Amino acid sequence: MLNGKTAVVTGGSRGIGRAVCTALAENGANIAFLSRGGAGAEQTERELEALGVTARGYVCDVADYGQTEQVFKQIIADFGSFDILVNNAGITDDKLLLSMKPDSFDKVLRTNLYGVYNTIKQAYPVFMKKRSGRIINISSVSGLIGNAGQANYSASKAAVIGFTKSVARELASRGVTCNAIAPGFVETDMTADFTQNEAIIGQIPMKRFAKPEEIAAVCAFLASDGASYITGSVICADGGMTCIS
Ligand code: NAP
Repeated sequence: MLNGKTAVVTGGSRGIGRAVCTALAENGANIAFLSRGGAGAEQTERELEALGVTARGYVCDVADYGQTEQVFKQIIADFGSFDILVNNAGITDDKLLLSMKPDSFDKVLRTNLYGVYNTIKQAYPVFMKKRSGRIINISSVSGLIGNAGQANYSASKAAVIGFTKSVARELASRGVTCNAIAPGFVETDMTADFTQNEAIIGQIPMKRFAKPEEIAAVCAFLASDGASYITGSVICADGGMTCIS
């Protein structure tokens, strides 16, 4: 279904991002993924190549505009162009606001929000010119209902939703869609410290964390032909967390 298309996925070296790369590759897409060079990128590359697609990992801190611009130029040189952008790279630095230093607030906003600006700035002219393209931004339920200890993260993820809706409106007439996914708790390195936390599991109507593949499947749908009339939407994949808020 995505044969002949190329997807750029940020934060593809592990967690949800790797699952997104896999789901898109299983549908035939070639994959360019970005990470800061931590462990996992080579494994992602190997797993994707085993699916018979072209895959390449790039070292890039999406919080840095100059680096992001250079890497997108390189991706276009390597793949010709690209058709799908998934903004998945994200970090947390949780603390109650009382002890949250400016650096912590700044760092989380730089990756989670500015990172989305930095990549969409590269994709915008490409998609506008070809009059097609899919942008999928990974937000979070924290951006919808907030979370104590995550004022920085929640602010960044709420901002991504506003950003998504504005870009959707700007590009709708050009055949480009822009949507967000708001996952609840997902089993990844990011949540490794509290996957067994009964208080958290108690907040989830489905009484379990999601597997990364359950978020990736939503992403694959938003990239597919079946989602051609969906833009500016936020799809919650949260085991029911927001339906009871
Ligand atoms: P993860 O396991 O910590 O993986 C994060 C990925 O992003 C890694 O590939 C990491 O690679 C990359 N990354 C981080 N900062 C980056 C930067 N500045 N530039 C480029 N790459 C960067 O996280 P995850 O749980 O899969 O989360 C993925 C996304 O889903 C995030 O946006 C997160 O906020 C969101 N989300 C997660 C959950 C959850 O429960 N896990 C829930 C809701 C939303 P390097 O470290 O090598 O850079």
